[in-house]
Amino acid sequence: MGREPSSLSERSFSFAFVFFLFALAAARFAGGQAATTEIKVDQVGYLPAAPKIALVSQARTNPGKFLVKRTSDNGVVLQGKLGAALHDPNTGDDVQAADFSALREPGRYYIEVPGVGRSWNFSIGSNVYSRAYQLAMLGFYGQRCGAQVDLGPEFPGYKHSACHLKGEFHPTSGKSGERDNLGGWHDAGDYGRYVVNSGISTGSLLWAWELYAPKLKNIQLRIPESGTGTPDILSEARWNLEWMLTMQDDDGGVWQKQTSTHFAGFVMPEDDPLESEIIGTGAAPYKSTCATADLAAVAAIAARVYKPFDEKFAAKNLHAARQAWLWAENNPNVIFKNPPGISTGEYGDNDCRDERLWAAAELWRTTGEAAYNDFFLKNYADFQPKLDAPAA
Ligand SMILES: [Zn+2]
Repeated sequence: MGREPSSLSERSFSFAFVFFLFALAAARFAGGQAATTEIKVDQVGYLPAAPKIALVSQARTNPGKFLVKRTSDNGVVLQGKLGAALHDPNTGDDVQAADFSALREPGRYYIEVPGVGRSWNFSIGSNVYSRAYQLAMLGFYGQRCGAQVDLGPEFPGYKHSACHLKGEFHPTSGKSGERDNLGGWHDAGDYGRYVVNSGISTGSLLWAWELYAPKLKNIQLRIPESGTGTPDILSEARWNLEWMLTMQDDDGGVWQKQTSTHFAGFVMPEDDPLESEIIGTGAAPYKSTCATADLAAVAAIAARVYKPFDEKFAAKNLHAARQAWLWAENNPNVIFKNPPGISTGEYGDNDCRDERLWAAAELWRTTGEAAYNDFFLKNYADFQPKLDAPAA
């Protein structure tokens, strides 16, 4: 019985793979002519007013002209000259740029270069990034721990049952016994959950909302919380945030990770027999400064972002952020190393000052209180080179 789910998933995978090959072949011969990889276009698409560049390899063998054609009737909408041939050290190719920025009309197109061939189809439109965004967000949803997940009929086979429904404290955490264990996203290919990793991913999603709310609020993700009145991106981020908050101890410190003692085998998450455990540093104070400061930063952003949708949850986050900040002040550099017997991802860091700087900035943005501003002003100079944009 135990093998049945994995053989089912293998079959689903095989089916998906054959379907993928079929789709690839169908796309390749769409329009009657095979697409060539010698012409590189952005298949995610181009915004109408954005610069639009395709790169053409085999540059020396063609006459220097390119055409942009509509997929619907192969009509030419723009002609241009390829730029000078340049060597690209990253790929080893000699390439010429086809600049078709002047084309702004939304639609579906391909590029043809006489002597080289035709490109894959691409889109110009104001919503070209919506699909990439939806897929990225479904990626987070697919990693949900503690719940049944199903990506729906568009992605057959991409589902799992509720997993890791029990948790416990590992002796390295300074506590013992069982604990609630719902929420969070599985990490990169293993079933562990790590505060520092999910700090930057959750923080980035909350920033995305702060920066692009007017656009994001209209894009449905088809997750279980869709239609509840809270924007989908905030519901998905909350799934991980709720777990992060449970990683905070009563004294404000935050444990580094919740994983098994070693990585699970290559099994579906609901078939992972290993205990999911809170792992600490192995000695007092057990929590780590980087994880604690990351929680402070993310919870401080959350206090701003969730306020219009759930004031109580926003206040809970602000309280957690303040407590975490205080703990990090009193324990400024407790470094996490995997204790003996633990071999899951360490995600160590020898210097938690930059995490504290991030926390100070976010707490200041949320509260406007002078103490956070003072800390930032006193400590940011060492990190200025990393904050500066790279030279163009
Ligand atoms: Zn899980």
